Amino acid sequence: MTSAAALLDRALGAYLGLAIGDALGATVEFMTPREIQHRFAAQGGVHRNLIGGGWLKLAPGQVTDDTTMSLALGDALLRGERAGRPFDTRLIAEAFLAWWRGKPVDCGNTCRRGILRFLQQGGVSGEPNDGDAGNGALMRNLPVALATLGDDAAFERVSIAQAHVTHHHPLSDAAVLGIGHLLRDLLGGADAAAQARRIEAFVATQPAFTFQPYPGRASGYVVDTVQTVLHCVSSHAEFEPALLAAVNQGDDADTTGALVGMLAGARCGAQALPGRWLGRLSRTVVQDITDQASALVALALDRQSLPLPS
Ligand code: MG
Ligand code: MG
Repeated sequence: MTSAAALLDRALGAYLGLAIGDALGATVEFMTPREIQHRFAAQGGVHRNLIGGGWLKLAPGQVTDDTTMSLALGDALLRGERAGRPFDTRLIAEAFLAWWRGKPVDCGNTCRRGILRFLQQGGVSGEPNDGDAGNGALMRNLPVALATLGDDAAFERVSIAQAHVTHHHPLSDAAVLGIGHLLRDLLGGADAAAQARRIEAFVATQPAFTFQPYPGRASGYVVDTVQTVLHCVSSHAEFEPALLAAVNQGDDADTTGALVGMLAGARCGAQALPGRWLGRLSRTVVQDITDQASALVALALDRQSLPLPS
């Protein structure tokens, strides 16, 4: 593959990996590891298939807010570029509001509160809030990482702006930037040593996210989420074992699954994603992600005045 084609493959791998992890994890969201082992005793105590269900009673291959909010954010970035309003936070907030009005299958409490604040008061950023340390801003930031490839300053500015529409907390901000920079390294083809250096540097500057030894919590608290994600991507080089490790921790399994799927998908690329999962993912979601991933990469290359991938 040419480098442009390889970049597109990794970008698509990240986005489809996010959706696969979301759909796989949603089956066991809010379960404990013991409950998962018991429920899936017939297959070695491991949840490993895209079967839907879960507390949201999903169809097999159906995704949740992690994926659909990401798509809403990516749409807003593309719409802003077309309208001559690049990276306009108001367009992002309007996209989240439209997403919420579309009656998504689920919506986290902090996201709902931020969207309602925007609806009622019009502000695109909430005040700093001790209760905003959930993972809702982190779970949806992939489109920003793609649209700003090659421009770290824009990446950080737009990431924090989209985050603060619903989550305004230093730990959420740190997680959005730390996981985002790791993702960008992997999209650029970083090897295992480069991945380890990035993670080590992140944890050194943000010790709250120290994950070795792994504390074993996988909740929606952004510290628990990031520790689980870093533990899984550091312990497993391949997509499938990394993702299985994440979702079988249960709790906020759709979101830890989405984030591990995103990072591991960026590492392996779309062509290496397991066919038995990709083939069961909602066809509409696969199409929307395929269209959006290539448009976001094209936007980034265009901003850098680089040739578009053919
Ligand atoms: Mg979800
Ligand atoms: Mg979740």
